[in-house]
Amino acid sequence: MTLDESLQVTRIYSVADMLPSDTPLIRQRPFSRAHHTISHAGLVGGGRVPRPGEISLAHRGVLFLDELPEFDQRSLEVLRQPLEDRIVTISRAAGTLTFPANFQLVAAMNPCPCGYYGDPTKECTCAPSLVTRYQKRISGPLLDRIDIHIEVPRVPYEKLTGERLGESSAIVAARVEAARERQRKRFASHDSRVVCNADMTPADVRVLCKLDATGQSLMRSAMQQLQLSARAFHRVLKIARTIADLAGSDEIAPRIWPRRFSIDRGGRNEMTQSPI
Ligand SMILES: [Zn+2]
Repeated sequence: MTLDESLQVTRIYSVADMLPSDTPLIRQRPFSRAHHTISHAGLVGGGRVPRPGEISLAHRGVLFLDELPEFDQRSLEVLRQPLEDRIVTISRAAGTLTFPANFQLVAAMNPCPCGYYGDPTKECTCAPSLVTRYQKRISGPLLDRIDIHIEVPRVPYEKLTGERLGESSAIVAARVEAARERQRKRFASHDSRVVCNADMTPADVRVLCKLDATGQSLMRSAMQQLQLSARAFHRVLKIARTIADLAGSDEIAPRIWPRRFSIDRGGRNEMTQSPI
């Protein structure tokens, strides 16, 4: 983290009384993992003496929510504010309190309660109405705030036992760090409060995510065919900027997407089954 980010995170852990005595300054990005049985206050913050919740403890880091549909619906809906504004406001009779909550949300879910909906080899045993009800637990407005949706199919035996190994995490981490550095340099001359692409406002996106003519026509047809919301439009451009940064490119160029990569259809209450 930058020194400023380290100070912000350390302050939150100090307020939560969770700063280890041998760590005066937290330098590692936090990774916060919440179980679906977590209380509302535990997740978003609150309590008699208001304390930061997991979303604030994940500030400038990653918040991982496994089994997303199992979480308390009220808590999930409250996530919409911090995902949008990067802060969480807790109301009390005595007044309101604001904690920072600028985290990267990573969430996982099964396609249905039995876990086999859409599996090519094993049949799903759930009633269709149950599958719909399960998927609808994640509301359209919340889905619209999640940048990338990826289906992760079962890994076949041959692949598990095959010789071919993927990239090591160290190589991927180096590529991410290089992309982050590229972003830091870009924002240093633009707006130093912005640290990474996710922090960009729509006004920043307009200036920093310019498309060439081919890119513009691709976006135009995507907007029409997929009926993307304005929020989804900005999200696509931010992700495009990040992909270009990972590729070490200053230009955002149209490319063929790998098949398993898909972007949700903003605002619709459905899980994307087929990638664009
Ligand atoms: Zn099922």
